[in-house]
Amino acid sequence: MKKNKSLAAYRARRNFTKTHEPKGRTQKTSKVPVFVIQKHAASHLHFDVRLEINKVLVSWAVPKGPSTDPRVKRLAVLTEPHPLQYARFEGVIPPGQYGAGTVMVWDRGTFKNIKMKDGKKVSLKNCFRNGQIEVELKGRRLRGGYVLLQFKKEKNQWLLKKIDDQCADKKMNVVTRYTTSAITGRTMQEIAQEAKAHQ
Ligand code: MN
Repeated sequence: MKKNKSLAAYRARRNFTKTHEPKGRTQKTSKVPVFVIQKHAASHLHFDVRLEINKVLVSWAVPKGPSTDPRVKRLAVLTEPHPLQYARFEGVIPPGQYGAGTVMVWDRGTFKNIKMKDGKKVSLKNCFRNGQIEVELKGRRLRGGYVLLQFKKEKNQWLLKKIDDQCADKKMNVVTRYTTSAITGRTMQEIAQEAKAHQ
């Protein structure tokens, strides 16, 4: 097992004797890239959108969460890359620790890179570098095309937007429609209570 250097910022912020979040020492790559969206009740409630790129989960904090309406642009702030194992993390980050609060796996699945330029596919790595990501999500709740676009000046600020395709839905509020975990069916409150019971 090797240490993954791109996870240095992730590790530096966490005390693994106190938090149950994964250390992420392994570099296993999935055959098909995975994504996860975690609902995170930290000091401010937000959604963390994470896409597998280059053996890590490249991560954005999206204060308002994703939308299925292609007219809606959501601010997505780039944060530190997380280990692939984080896609399975659901629980409570203890008080006083970085990101303290309840974490729910709100959606999870695989995705396909659909970014093309001059008739050719652009690699995910280059899409990320260029600040123009286009993916087709195959989650339980989010499906179809989404774009992530980097701001020109504020490099850590991106926009998340639904592509207008068959999966687009202008009427649904996907964030209020689904309030339980995609993997355990638990509410935020249930995740918090069960973590307390196991302390
Ligand atoms: Mn977060």
